Amino acid sequence: MRKLIVAGNWKMNTSVAEGVELAKKVSAYAVEKNLPEGKQIVIAPPFTHLASVAQVIDSNKVILAAQDCAATKNGAYTGEVSASMLKGIGVKAVILGHSERRQYFKENSEILLKKIKLALEEGLDVIFCVGETKDQREAGANLYFNVIKAQLVDTVFTLSEQDFAKIIIAYEPVWAIGTGLTATPEQAQEIHEFIRKEVANNYSQKVADDTTILYGGSCKSSNAKEIFAKKDVDGGLIGGAALKADEFGKIIDAR
Ligand code: PEP
Repeated sequence: MRKLIVAGNWKMNTSVAEGVELAKKVSAYAVEKNLPEGKQIVIAPPFTHLASVAQVIDSNKVILAAQDCAATKNGAYTGEVSASMLKGIGVKAVILGHSERRQYFKENSEILLKKIKLALEEGLDVIFCVGETKDQREAGANLYFNVIKAQLVDTVFTLSEQDFAKIIIAYEPVWAIGTGLTATPEQAQEIHEFIRKEVANNYSQKVADDTTILYGGSCKSSNAKEIFAKKDVDGGLIGGAALKADEFGKIIDAR
């Protein structure tokens, strides 16, 4: 079912103690607001924080997500954390395909599809990020539409309809992430509409109507309302602005 989601990607920020405090505040906010069914708050702390955060949030009100998972099930993969390990400590979702993972850790569609499948096997929801770089945006609409389409076709569009129902798509223009440059509401809507059409072409209009598509990239309380008001924008994936409970709360209220 199509949902309204505001998700916080904490990246590699906060100590465990700070993260636990932040999670407590977000959870208290969600409880106080008594959000309607269909409106969800997600937080994605670093791996080291997940078990502690799981203990302090109301899991009926806040969905705990990881920022990554391994592309293999288990075994001799030093440093990796598997989807089943995450599930075992109360994680319900995972962010995959974030541009920082693609850029700094060379994660391509082949690797990402392995991660997606393992996450789904464990029953985790997947927030799958797509988006074009600055150069690709400047090269014109033909190119950036194709870039985004390829990111979908090579990964989540290979899934069965049943599995695809567990995918939340996040459109995150790389040029807007952490830069202070936000896509205009019209730029966001253009891509969200395009993604929804591609979902309809690949599956069906019903699946497209049910797909949740988030916007991410320097989204904050001062611009969230305008962006979230667009008809194909179902909420946001928030980086920097998710690290302050008050600011994150205002963004939750914007939708
Ligand atoms: C992100 O990293 O997913 C993100 C949207 O970051 P920021 O909001 O800081 O641009």
